[in-house]
Amino acid sequence: MSFTLHGIAVSSGIAIGYAHLISHTSLEVAHYVLPKQFLAEEIERFDHALMATRQEFASLRSNRPSYAAAEFDAFLELHQMILDDPMLSIGPREMVEREHCNAEWAIKVQTDALVAQFDEFEDAYLRERQADVKQVAERLLKQLSGQPGHQPTSARHDIETILVAHDLSPADLIQFKPQQYAAFLTDVGSATSHTAIVARSLNTPCVVGLHHARELIREDDLLILDGEQGVILVNPGKAVLAEYKLLQSEWELDRKKLKRLRSARANTLDGTAIELHANIEKPEDIAEVKENGATGIGLFRSEFLFLGRDELPGEEEQFEAYRTVAEGMKDQPVTIRTFDLGADKQIKGAERVSNNPALGLRAIRLCLAEPQLFRTQLRALLRATHYGNVKILIPMLSCVSELNQTLQFIAATKQGLDDEGIPYDRNVMIGGMIEIPAAALALNVFARKLDFLSIGTNDLIQYTLAIDRTDEDVAHLYDPLHPAVLQLLAHVIGTCNKLDVPVSVCGEMAGELAHTRLFLGMGLRQFSMFSAQVPTIKQRVLSTSLPEITSLTQKILRSDDPMKIRELLDKLNA
Ligand code: PEP
Ligand code: MG
Repeated sequence: MSFTLHGIAVSSGIAIGYAHLISHTSLEVAHYVLPKQFLAEEIERFDHALMATRQEFASLRSNRPSYAAAEFDAFLELHQMILDDPMLSIGPREMVEREHCNAEWAIKVQTDALVAQFDEFEDAYLRERQADVKQVAERLLKQLSGQPGHQPTSARHDIETILVAHDLSPADLIQFKPQQYAAFLTDVGSATSHTAIVARSLNTPCVVGLHHARELIREDDLLILDGEQGVILVNPGKAVLAEYKLLQSEWELDRKKLKRLRSARANTLDGTAIELHANIEKPEDIAEVKENGATGIGLFRSEFLFLGRDELPGEEEQFEAYRTVAEGMKDQPVTIRTFDLGADKQIKGAERVSNNPALGLRAIRLCLAEPQLFRTQLRALLRATHYGNVKILIPMLSCVSELNQTLQFIAATKQGLDDEGIPYDRNVMIGGMIEIPAAALALNVFARKLDFLSIGTNDLIQYTLAIDRTDEDVAHLYDPLHPAVLQLLAHVIGTCNKLDVPVSVCGEMAGELAHTRLFLGMGLRQFSMFSAQVPTIKQRVLSTSLPEITSLTQKILRSDDPMKIRELLDKLNA
């Protein structure tokens, strides 16, 4: 049966491939029937994984990291209880025996049933424990993945595959190798969630917020995913397929043509130089940065070094990662953000329960609450400054006391390195992210005490409009052109220019073509975005004359009528 689904387009490109469904838990789960003679072995696999997971909990308990919060023990106890629940410890075994299925599938089915039971609770706290059930199931599945069973060999390993999931966390996505999947689609999610950001940086088409795609699409259905329009065509007819194949090759040709701008300087028609930098998540990403002609790294989201792993990276591992980027970019600027963990980016095994994670212990707040973790990162970062043009960026600053505490931390870490005779750049620039309205409004103190500022529009919009950026139910209210947002942006850019403090925009807005001229008109001269978007934005810069856009930009900023703002923006971009 053919049908069409509409969602939120988050990463452009067209993909054509077969659906591969994964379960609610974030690990991939295949479903296959086993011949009778392999059943005993399969049950043994399950028993072994169960035992190994129990041992894993025991070792986590005895090696409880000192930075882990006090609730860590309670957390572990809860996870152990979930693991011992008969639905997870006995149910899958019985299911393999009864249905001759693989152990992974049995765990998935039992997990879904247990999650559904938690869903029925009236108490919000208990309802939220479904996340813990999924995490325990993930641990079990991970143990199984270390001991392969008798899987049927895939008949279509050479054909492109599109991953279909209810949800994917940023940590799930970052684990996929480049080009492992032709595209991703999920039921939940929004355009500025970190999952969407990672999809863009993997340069993989992606549509999210499809609501029931995971239920409606079957394994091996043929899919067309249009990452520009946010459309999924399931089992399309021949004519539609041919049309999309054509569109796909046109799209790829356009991208290739744009890459020819790689070494061109990003100057406006009147000769003003604009810096186009890239956002990265991992050191490996710098190949893409160069391929697309970005002239620096405006945001290295260092927290991705911490995600999806059981042990946290120590000082040496972090130092190597930062040094690799610093050296790889030669003398071009590399802005490394201290880790922004919390909310939708949680350290495995130390996940925190919070009613409002985006408003909770996240980013610099978490760093200041976990001094040892922060100190380790600062040492690694400062050491890396010796090997390139590294700058340090602090996320989510809201008040001056946080800023002072952070600067004291940095000073103390420098002192420690001095005492040990370890080299670092004594003049390393320290910058702050302006992504909380309070910081945007009380800007002067941040501008005075810091060497540069970078506007995180993803969070600035989230916190200004009170919209959870990960929640697809309110995604339609996420409006970068809301007059309040535009006022804040113009205020920050204008004030920084007046005070001669370098300012950039590194949120997703910086990579949206519709906003390039608006930002230029506000006075922005430095943008940072996902690498693949640099040539597109460069092309727009090259065709823009600053004197010609000033008066329209001012009109937009004076308007408080959303319709009018859109009308004027269309004119600006014509
Ligand atoms: C932002 O908030 O705009 C930003 C760049 O940081 P992140 O998306 O990682 O929160
Ligand atoms: Mg942010």
